[in-house]
Amino acid sequence: MTAEQAPLEWETPLFHTALAQFQQAVPFAEISDAIVDRLSVPERSLIVAVPVKLDDGSRTVFPGYRVQHSSVLGPTKGGIRYDPHVSLGECAALSMWMTWKCALLRLPYGGAKGGIRCDPRALSPRELEAVTRRFTTQLLPVIGPQEDIPAPDMATDEQTMAWMMDTYSMQVGHAVPEIVTGKPISIGGSVFRAEATGAGVVMVIERACRRLDRQLAGQRCVVQGFGKVGGVAAVELVDRGAIVTGVSDVSGGLYDEGGLDVQALYAHAHEVGHGSLAEIEGEHVTNEELLELPCDILVLAALEDQVTDENAPRVKAQMVAEGANGPLSLEADAIFAERGVPVLPDILANAGGVTVSYFEWVQDLGRLFWDRDDIRARLADKMGDAFDRVWELSEARGLTLRQAALVTGIREVAAALDARGLFP
Ligand code: NAD
Repeated sequence: MTAEQAPLEWETPLFHTALAQFQQAVPFAEISDAIVDRLSVPERSLIVAVPVKLDDGSRTVFPGYRVQHSSVLGPTKGGIRYDPHVSLGECAALSMWMTWKCALLRLPYGGAKGGIRCDPRALSPRELEAVTRRFTTQLLPVIGPQEDIPAPDMATDEQTMAWMMDTYSMQVGHAVPEIVTGKPISIGGSVFRAEATGAGVVMVIERACRRLDRQLAGQRCVVQGFGKVGGVAAVELVDRGAIVTGVSDVSGGLYDEGGLDVQALYAHAHEVGHGSLAEIEGEHVTNEELLELPCDILVLAALEDQVTDENAPRVKAQMVAEGANGPLSLEADAIFAERGVPVLPDILANAGGVTVSYFEWVQDLGRLFWDRDDIRARLADKMGDAFDRVWELSEARGLTLRQAALVTGIREVAAALDARGLFP
């Protein structure tokens, strides 16, 4: 293989999946080849070495990554994950999806993603703090409130964001809350950020029901994943009169044909003892069985690749909502399209999180904070507007909702690139 033919560093299978989705949407987006070429590669990819002193006195070095896909609409935005599988290709794929998601919601951002390749469970809180502060220092040349704004992702949380915010602020000499989102409320975090993704999923489901002449109240729902997204979504569904018959976490699922007491389960899992669903009495099912339970709406809010060509034919739901990123394989997507089962795609359904992150950044920049009802109402407006544009394009062009969401996002970015032209 010659040097010209060697794959670029981020070209991994996951990046090729993201690229394939983009290329499949391109014919419907009607954009020029030059713009396709430009958006097919991330704008900036950074690999750093993160040295850290461990509690036993020894030193080790972790690889750290940050990929910024497109800055045409504004600063880039995306999570930081600590995971043994983090790679440049994974960050590049996720950064591309973030670009389409932000553009679809008409947020003035491009996509980014980053992380450290490590086993976070093997690190003490002190070691995690040291890793985070050193990594932040190495990102200083490429992050900033107008350049790139990190957020939590897998195995990072509001404490991680607080350490990042403090490290950045100490370098510039004053508090800069707008450098990260998803931070504690005491240092400029936003109320309602924690519930935003789950609440947004249900806002999108409700709109879809309305378009299909169904009432959300009375719909029988099954929710996979009972964490920040799935747990909140299950509670919101019940608040709107839906009947949640099945929920699951990593330990397995619980089923009750008459409807589960979701509030009590949520309190058990999140408030009282951070317990698992396995400790609750009732009819237990495996995660595989849960996906195939009879229901009207299946919410996938755990992790990627849960429904594939193997189990999709046995899924009985009449609508599928992607709270997680990438829970359906490309083949499963095609099976649901063939059967006429609407799939509310991740870049639309779980966009409530980044939308309220945007609200957090705006509040920090303005030093003016909104109340919970205000934020919820603004989120409902944003999600509703994006949903309507996607639904209408899907009907007008005969596209699946995923294709329509991608095309809608891609068109926004392409229009900005066209208007700005090529520098110099
Ligand atoms: P979380 O860690 O709070 O919850 C994940 C839930 O899934 C937990 O209940 C866990 O027990 C369960 N789970 C883990 N492995 C499982 C398995 N093999 N089978 C069934 N359940 C399993 O995470 P989260 O923040 O709720 O994120 C869930 C998904 O949503 C991820 O794909 C994430 O990328 C995506 N997402 C999250 C946000 C956000 O704001 N939190 C925003 C957009 C997308």
